[in-house]
Amino acid sequence: MSDLRELYQEVILDHHKKPRNFRKLEDANRHAEGYNPLCGDRINLFLKIEEGIVREASFQGSGCAISTASASMMTELLKGKTEAEANALFERFHDLVTGKIPREKQADLGKLAVFAGVREYPVRIKCAILCWHALKAALERHSETVATE
Ligand code: ZN
Repeated sequence: MSDLRELYQEVILDHHKKPRNFRKLEDANRHAEGYNPLCGDRINLFLKIEEGIVREASFQGSGCAISTASASMMTELLKGKTEAEANALFERFHDLVTGKIPREKQADLGKLAVFAGVREYPVRIKCAILCWHALKAALERHSETVATE
């Protein structure tokens, strides 16, 4: 159980208790919803993209600590990123939670590195990556519900 406790490191709990950018973005021009039926996590992601740059990112929804913290950190990181950079970040995060990034390189991901621990728990991977799949859908201009199953 100690590994599981490591999952809920301070940074994840902090973002769960005080999620950043937790609001509807009234002037969003991209939107996607994510649903993880295994855990019941729901995320509505809003993006305002101008000239290929993410100007604003926010989310609403309800879910477990992992899914909420992941969305909170993701929306913080997205601001100011180009669409290409946002896509690259999705790939990096996907590699991180599926264990494809060696420990010594995880620090490159900054705060997101706390999610490295979820690879031990396949159910939790879906929680962590839910908002990222919503991001992918929003970037591809799909306005639809993406499910992790
Ligand atoms: Zn969850």
